[in-house]
Amino acid sequence: MAETVLSTHRLSRSFGPFKAVDGVSLEIARGTITGLIGPNGAGKSTFFNLLTGALAPDAGTVTLAGQDITGLPPSRLFELGMGRTFQIPRPFARMSVLENVMLAPTGQVGETVWGPFLSRKQMRDQERQIRDKAMEVLEFVTLGALADHPAGKISGGQMKLLELARVLMGDPALILLDEPAAGVNPVLTETLIGKIEELNRQGTTFVIIEHDMDLVMRHCDPIIALSEGRIVFQGSADEAMTDAGLLDAYLGT
Ligand code: ADP
Ligand code: MG
Repeated sequence: MAETVLSTHRLSRSFGPFKAVDGVSLEIARGTITGLIGPNGAGKSTFFNLLTGALAPDAGTVTLAGQDITGLPPSRLFELGMGRTFQIPRPFARMSVLENVMLAPTGQVGETVWGPFLSRKQMRDQERQIRDKAMEVLEFVTLGALADHPAGKISGGQMKLLELARVLMGDPALILLDEPAAGVNPVLTETLIGKIEELNRQGTTFVIIEHDMDLVMRHCDPIIALSEGRIVFQGSADEAMTDAGLLDAYLGT
């Protein structure tokens, strides 16, 4: 049995009388790329918000690597190795692509000494370390050539890659991606998927919310489907491909 990196137990969240996430219990195995699918309004993004502390659950628990993390703030979860991107990226438009990445919280560099007590030389060293790391992750996501461009001027697909770069600054063991391919051209989507698979081979676990069923079936395993806040399917990609209910709901029959 694969080790569970993240699990939820009866996780729930309502908005007024409306149950957006309704008693979701699941386990994410370390080393997988899990696909989280479901129609618009199924509660997928809300579920991510509950995992990452962006929203507080009404009930239920979230466990990360054996530790109860329910309700912990995003900054703390980040320190514990969980990174996430948002469905709609919001970079600082007038800052450069590189500056946007440099502003992301980092895992390794610059955290041992408290800022105000640094000498000028230490500050310069720290800035250089962060800049070097930011450049490295930008090269990795193929945005190196755009480092000095204003972040507001890059394409929607490039903004998704920029989001991934920001997340990678934290060296997360688990990355949650909210619709990484939505609105992204096919070439950049392939680039993004290639990078996700490369990181996955190096040990990073992914949970990916995605609408493109073809993409999910090809790259995600296992697959979990939500509808009206509940899990309606959970299984391997092969099982998903032959599940009558899922096919009805997604493949336009
Ligand atoms: P999905 O990501 O699966 O498309 P969401 O999690 O964004 O779905 O939304 C699930 C439902 O919860 C939707 O009906 C949405 O309108 C509602 N919802 C999400 N966030 C809020 C909020 N902050 N306030 C009120 N309703 C919300
Ligand atoms: Mg959503």
